[in-house]
Amino acid sequence: MSDHDFVSGGKPIPIERGEGASLYTGDGTEYVDAGASFACTPLGHSHPAVVEAVQEQVEKLTFVDSSFPVEARENAYASLIAATPDGLESAWFCNSGTEANEAALKFARSATGESTIVAATRSFHGRTMGALAATWKDTYKKPFEPLAGDVEFVPYGDGEELADAVDDETAAVILEPIQGEGGINVPPTGYLETARELTDEAGAALVLDEVQTGMGRTGSMWACENAGVTPDILTTAKGLGNGLPVGAVAVQDWIADGAASHNATFSGGPVVTAAVHATISTLVEEDVPANAAEIGEYLTTELEAALGDEIREVRGEGLLIGIELKRGANRIARDLALEHQVLALPAGRTVLRLLPPLVIDESHADQLVEALSAVIAPDTNADQ
Ligand SMILES: *Cc1c(COP(=O)(O)O)cnc(C)c1O
Repeated sequence: MSDHDFVSGGKPIPIERGEGASLYTGDGTEYVDAGASFACTPLGHSHPAVVEAVQEQVEKLTFVDSSFPVEARENAYASLIAATPDGLESAWFCNSGTEANEAALKFARSATGESTIVAATRSFHGRTMGALAATWKDTYKKPFEPLAGDVEFVPYGDGEELADAVDDETAAVILEPIQGEGGINVPPTGYLETARELTDEAGAALVLDEVQTGMGRTGSMWACENAGVTPDILTTAKGLGNGLPVGAVAVQDWIADGAASHNATFSGGPVVTAAVHATISTLVEEDVPANAAEIGEYLTTELEAALGDEIREVRGEGLLIGIELKRGANRIARDLALEHQVLALPAGRTVLRLLPPLVIDESHADQLVEALSAVIAPDTNADQ
């Protein structure tokens, strides 16, 4: 295997089975998943509640279109609305994060009658033409232009620049409450509140993309709750079905009332919504977000103590953690995987991202710290 294979995405680790925070190859080697499932398995791999719900549903009714009421979808709908902040009273299911953002931008344009979208530098909202237009990185966009137009970018975290950009022609401001792919960037306190005030004044929709930050990842069900801000439109996907492909858009009434026709064949299919209901119910009943908060704080503190001078910063919230390194993250991720059986993700050139299932305990956290110390600060640790 060459470095290039690894960097471009191929990893020579044939995963066969998963359980909790662990992944196993055919020969029984165990890997700790601190990013391999991309925030898609908040309850851990093949969680029994989700497996059972999906198995039952796929046998009973695999698919019928969403114009027919189906118990699985109705349950998922009710649990999603109950789990989202007050004020978000309607939702639409889709199949992925990019599709959720695509719908959010369409809903915002049709409900406001305006077209301009304000997005942030270093944002990531997905790879279909509309969501991609609101995504920052040129290498993702340039080869596919022209994209859906009218997107203005402002520096993430800067309330004054945002104020300059938002006006009567703004349909939506779309932001991640904490940027994931862009490097685990936490905005200054008050930034989301400023975005809320500006969009209210302009009659624009505030879209918070919680595809990565949602489903308990940051220690609350949604990161916007930590900031005390309710968006007009909240998008979710990744962890929503604990590994099944499903997304959703939750909206306030004025968006629901003003949105023009939009739908998808597989919207709210019985099997994925059975997974959604089981996932949300388990997250809530077992208070999994609180575990993410507690272990996230423990892990962050231990990482800071162990890595100290060898890194620039540990940042994030809950179990959305970025380690700003003093060197390239790709090689660190590779060494972690091949030498220590820990699977983590780069987020940009020098940031290593940890996105473990939210059910990890202190011993998993200790294991992560030990492996990271061995790779990042081998000299310091040789004496111990
Ligand atoms: C992953 C991600 C998306 C895109 O989701 P897909 O399911 O890959 O389309 C959008 N926004 C954020 C914040 C993400 O992390």
